[in-house]
Amino acid sequence: MNKLFNITHKNFNTVARYHNVAQIPKYDLVVIGGGIVGAASARELKIRHPTCKIGLLEKESGYACHQSGNNSGVVHAGIYYKPGSLKAKLCVEGLRLAYTYFDEKRIKYSKCGKLIVATEQSEVSRLLDLYDRGIQNGVQDLKLLDGKELKEIEPYSKGIQALWSPHTGIVNWGEVTKSYVQDFEERGGKTHLDFNVNQFYESKDDAEYPVTISNSLDKQVQAKYVLTCCGLHSDTVAVLTGCPEEPKIIPFRGEYLYIKKEKSNLVKANIYPVPDPRFPFLGVHLTPRIDGRIIVGPNAILAFCKEGYRWGDINMKELKEIAEFSGFRKMAMKYAGFGLKEMIRSAIMPLQVMQVQKYIQELTTSDVEMGPAGVRAQAMGKDGTLIEDFVFDSKPSSGAIGSRVLHCRNAPSPGATSSLAIAKMIADKMKDEFKL
Ligand SMILES: Cc1cc2nc3c(=O)[nH]c(=O)nc-3n(C[C@H](O)[C@H](O)[C@H](O)COP(=O)(O)OP(=O)(O)OC[C@H]3O[C@@H](n4cnc5c(N)ncnc54)[C@H](O)[C@@H]3O)c2cc1C
Repeated sequence: MNKLFNITHKNFNTVARYHNVAQIPKYDLVVIGGGIVGAASARELKIRHPTCKIGLLEKESGYACHQSGNNSGVVHAGIYYKPGSLKAKLCVEGLRLAYTYFDEKRIKYSKCGKLIVATEQSEVSRLLDLYDRGIQNGVQDLKLLDGKELKEIEPYSKGIQALWSPHTGIVNWGEVTKSYVQDFEERGGKTHLDFNVNQFYESKDDAEYPVTISNSLDKQVQAKYVLTCCGLHSDTVAVLTGCPEEPKIIPFRGEYLYIKKEKSNLVKANIYPVPDPRFPFLGVHLTPRIDGRIIVGPNAILAFCKEGYRWGDINMKELKEIAEFSGFRKMAMKYAGFGLKEMIRSAIMPLQVMQVQKYIQELTTSDVEMGPAGVRAQAMGKDGTLIEDFVFDSKPSSGAIGSRVLHCRNAPSPGATSSLAIAKMIADKMKDEFKL
């Protein structure tokens, strides 16, 4: 559990930046980040502590503008993850909580299922390992299929063996995030959009609300306790509170293609490759979306800034920071070949289509068009290790502010599926740490 959080521990300068102290909103607890993890946590904390004054700060003018609103939209079942890991536990629990929540709120979803397809004999042993993992993780109703049974579920697909997960589903995670925020607000939680947190101070002459959080427009809020869930910026925000830069977030763009509407009949369920264990990503897959479109992707391309959704999005400061990070240089050396291939494929659409023709042979380049993109927050260690699990530092907490700020530093996929389970764990942790 300790690995999951980074408790800040440095002393802070006492700075009074505000002019009229009486106007500054004061909260028992402030959550920073209006993605799915921040929104789910704010909601859970408000449910558990209805009389607590809780504020949610988000730098954009809406919620789920980054990872939570730009992803594959899959409700993962928990097959891939190392047994006993937080990812395994929180994904399986998260799926159960998510479906109950969707039913309660009448959020549109579909349990369309998922196939992990082995197309070559060399992939079969890895597929069988995945089956074992899924069983160990408590994934319900997993089944191994032969090529004939695969075709019964997915008539246009081809493979020698497959893993069938009937409870994997699809949903619009951006919509789910907004629903969490709505629950939070209906229970009296306060939200502040366009609030780009860029500094933390120790409050002047206010021992009750000792943490002052300031934004780029020099507006402040004060808090007794703070939780940060800043996704792609989790390292930057943690550094603002005196925490180490690591785990560093390296942005990887995931680009998708759309299958043209007239060919949507080619795919019914999620069709995934057997993942390559050398990489933390699940591989290019075919996924029906809840709006009826089918997406193909995502690839994994180094983005030239944290919010680099297109090739032309470049932030020289962030790019320099990435290039100077020793972990990135080590990773780049190790995966240079893979990275180059991904970039070439990104530029040449037929090469992307070839990746999924293994599963759906009827699909041709004329059946696809450019689709959306998302940017993954990939946590990385100084030694170039790609960090897979939900990761947290466990530095001892101290100081007036240090003991009051909790950082959720890494919530990669299946973070959306796991969001309600993560929120429960965060609320437990806040109770233990802050006696909330
Ligand atoms: C391409 C892709 C595909 C994926 N597919 C799936 C999937 O199919 N299923 C699944 O379960 N998961 C999937 N994931 C993972 C999932 O989307 C993430 O785990 C989840 O969205 C993380 O949520 P978050 O709230 O931590 O981050 P985010 O959604 O990135 O939210 C962080 C928020 O913090 C805000 N913020 C940052 N800095 C500041 C600041 N200084 N001040 C104020 N606000 C700030 C940002 O604006 C943002 O709104 C995918 C992710 C990607 C990128």
